[in-house]
Amino acid sequence: MVDTVPPVRRAGSRVTRGAADALVVGGGLAGGALATALAEAGCSVVLLEREADPHNKVCGEFLSREAILYLEALGIDLPALGACHIHSVRLASAGDVVTVRLPFPALSLSRRALDHALLNRAAEAGAEIKRGTRVQSLEPRPLESCQDGWEARLAVGESVRGRAAFLATGKHDLRGFARPAGWQSDLIGFKMHLRLSPAQTALLAGHVELSLFRGGYAGLEPVEGGLANLCLLVRRKRYAALGQQWAALLDAMGADCPSLAERIHGAQPCWGRPLAISSIPYGYVRRRGDALWRLGDQAAVIPSFAGDGMSIALHSARLAAAYFLKGSTAIAYQRRMARDIIMPVRCATALSIASVHPLGRGLISWGASRLPGIMSLVAGATRVPAAALRRTGLDLA
Ligand SMILES: Cc1cc2nc3c(=O)[nH]c(=O)nc-3n(C[C@H](O)[C@H](O)[C@H](O)COP(=O)(O)OP(=O)(O)OC[C@H]3O[C@@H](n4cnc5c(N)ncnc54)[C@H](O)[C@@H]3O)c2cc1C
Repeated sequence: MVDTVPPVRRAGSRVTRGAADALVVGGGLAGGALATALAEAGCSVVLLEREADPHNKVCGEFLSREAILYLEALGIDLPALGACHIHSVRLASAGDVVTVRLPFPALSLSRRALDHALLNRAAEAGAEIKRGTRVQSLEPRPLESCQDGWEARLAVGESVRGRAAFLATGKHDLRGFARPAGWQSDLIGFKMHLRLSPAQTALLAGHVELSLFRGGYAGLEPVEGGLANLCLLVRRKRYAALGQQWAALLDAMGADCPSLAERIHGAQPCWGRPLAISSIPYGYVRRRGDALWRLGDQAAVIPSFAGDGMSIALHSARLAAAYFLKGSTAIAYQRRMARDIIMPVRCATALSIASVHPLGRGLISWGASRLPGIMSLVAGATRVPAAALRRTGLDLA
C-alpha cells in the first residue's frame, strides 16, 4: 500500500488514516485544477498521473477567454510561461480565406508547458503528486474506519486509497468506466509541432488558422519558442483512402487548402512522427451521476473545431471542488455539470459533423465569407456559458 498522506498536513484536513480525502486519477487540466482547489481548501489530496515527465498531448493548444480566466484564478501566469497572443481567426476552405477578429482575447500555449505548470501549482498548494503512476483499476472499497472509500490499483501492483475518487483520465478510459461512442466518433486526431520559415512564422503571428479539407479540418497556431502547432482531425475512412500515411495526408490537405500548403511548406517537424489519437467520443455528455466524480473529457467531450475542451475541463474541476467542499454529492455535481455544458457541446458537435461533410464545408465557408458576424455567434454558442462561470464565482465582465 502506498502512503497517501501528503508531507504537509493542513489544519482542518479531514484525513482518514491511510486514505486521502480526495484521490484524483489523471494529471491533465481537470485533475491538476481540482487537486489545486481542494489542497488549497485544506483537503489531503493524492493525484496519480501515468506519465513520469512533462509530455506533449494531442490538442490544438488554443486557450479561450474562459480557459484563461480559470487558469488565472488558479494562479497560473500564462505570459510568464510564454503564451502567444491570438487576436484573429483565418478560415480557409478551397481557395477562400476569411479573416475575422476574435470576439475575445485568446492565447496559445503548449500542453507540455501548461499541464506541467498546473501540476507544480497543485504540489505547491499541498497536493501529493505521483507521476509515472498508471492506475489500472478503480473500485469502491470501505476504509478501515468503515466509511465509504475508493481504492486505485496501480500498474506496479500497489494501491492507493481515498475517501472520494475523481476520474480525470481525459481521452483514456479506465477499465470498467468506458464512455459510450458519442455523436461523432469516426475522427482521428493528429498533432505536430513545426518550425516554420521566418516569413511564414511572421504571417501566422496572432492568428489561429482553421483549414477545412476533404474529410477533416486542421488548426495551425503559434506556440511558445517560435514554433507552430498543427493539429487536425480527419475521418477514419479518408485517412484509410490515403494509405494511412501522414505525408499523404499533408499533401491532400495542401491540395484542398493552398494557404495551409504555403504556410507549412519547408517547415521542420519537431518530432519523428505526429502524435495521434482515435475513437474520440465527440458529443458525449455524462448526464447520470453515481459515487464517482467525473471531470474533463470524462464528463463531456466537445469537438475540437470550437476549441473549448480545456475550459470545460477547468469548469468541471472548479464546479466539482465547490460541490465537494460544501459536502454535496457526485450525483448533484454531475447533473449540474451536464446542464452547464450540454448546449455548447451539442452546437459544436453539429458544427463538427457539418465541417467534415462536403455540403456542410461549402456552407460554412460561404457563411463565413458572406456573413463574418456569424463566426462570433458560433464562438459564443460553443463556449462555457457566462452563467455557468458565474456559478463558480468567476465573471467575464
Ligand atoms: C485534436 C484535438 C484538438 C483539441 N484542441 C483544443 C483546443 O485547441 N482548445 C481546447 O480548449 N481544447 C482542445 N481540445 C480538447 C482538450 O485537449 C481536452 O478537452 C482537455 O485536454 C481535457 O482535459 P482533461 O484533464 O480531461 O484530460 P487530459 O488533458 O487528456 O489529461 C488526462 C490525464 O490523465 C492521464 N491518465 C490517463 N489515463 C491514466 C491512468 N490510467 N492512470 C493515471 N493517469 C492517467 C493522462 O496521462 C493525462 O495526463 C482538443 C482535443 C483534441 C483531441
